[in-house]
Amino acid sequence: MNIDKILMTPGPTNVPKRVLNKMAQNMIHHRTDEFANIFKEFNERLKYVFQTDNTVLTFPSSGTGGLEASIVNMLSKKDKVLIVSIGVFGDRFADIARIYDIEVDKLDVPWGKGVEIKDIKSRLTDEHKALIITHNETSTGANNDIKKIGEFMKNKKQLYIVDAVSSLGAIETKMDDWNIDVLVSGSQKALMSPPGLSFIAVSKKGWKYNQKSNIPKYYFDFKKAKDRMDKELPQTPYTPAVSLIVGTNEALKMIQKEGIDNVCKRHERLACMFREGVKNMGLEFFVDEKYQSNTVTSIKMKNKAVDIKTIMEEEFNIVIAAGQGKLKNEIIRIGHMGCVDEEMIEKTLHALEEAIKKF
Ligand SMILES: *Cc1c(COP(=O)(O)O)cnc(C)c1O
Repeated sequence: MNIDKILMTPGPTNVPKRVLNKMAQNMIHHRTDEFANIFKEFNERLKYVFQTDNTVLTFPSSGTGGLEASIVNMLSKKDKVLIVSIGVFGDRFADIARIYDIEVDKLDVPWGKGVEIKDIKSRLTDEHKALIITHNETSTGANNDIKKIGEFMKNKKQLYIVDAVSSLGAIETKMDDWNIDVLVSGSQKALMSPPGLSFIAVSKKGWKYNQKSNIPKYYFDFKKAKDRMDKELPQTPYTPAVSLIVGTNEALKMIQKEGIDNVCKRHERLACMFREGVKNMGLEFFVDEKYQSNTVTSIKMKNKAVDIKTIMEEEFNIVIAAGQGKLKNEIIRIGHMGCVDEEMIEKTLHALEEAIKKF
């Protein structure tokens, strides 16, 4: 393992040694009290991070599996939904919905910005069954104001479905207080764990939609998963990703110990520190200040993104990401989420400065 490489990517992120060590243990059989007790504890920790009283379901998949599962479990064929897209992940959610014969009304926001609430207010109608939106758009480094939109969604009949894959555990997210009906996240971003688990919580209102949903599902069936989860000794319908659960449980323990509010404050502090350094280099952000993310910063690079990324990795052992889709060589994206501290931010700023000097 290349222990010296630092992952300053928008996921997967650095996994703390404590978490890695847990995963090196021998297998626990999943139909035992030992596993059930760990799984119970795990769910309580997830509920704390989600800030919800709802059960949090765990599936063996990356985040995209969680997005797909939320479509097939919540909606029915021919349902009409409003999907807000501010980048690649919003577009992905729309693509998934269309595959399942959902009628997608798409509100496209120029990349680099977040949505304006007035635009949602004027587009959402009684015909829509759900409002689907990304919290932190990892492809651009812009945020949507999920809290404010949640105030507007209070007591609405439409479901409020939020992709929080790259925000949960770093940027304040309060499922219950913000009236979110379906909240989706994954293990490999701010939750400091390896890729492979998706997490989904569903509100009471959401479960009503689930009862009516007519899209076929077998493995990713929320109801089946919830019935097993709500038992005194919780289990999963099929063999769970035991090692990933044991590892992520350790990462959640660390988050709980630091306190979720403190974790969010640390992310804000480190993001500010990083942006300050970037500004001092005279570089330009891709995202307006108003929408800037505390987990991903994107910087304009004018056809140099891939070269800068290569130099930072080969000469400084710092892994970052270039743009996605049409932004491939136009921006670099630097992740500062999960297991990050001041020293890592300083090293990244130094490497970036040296790489820029070469051009
Ligand atoms: C990473 C990410 C996903 C899921 O991507 P996977 O590669 O399937 O884990 C979904 N939405 C957002 C906003 C993400 O950052």
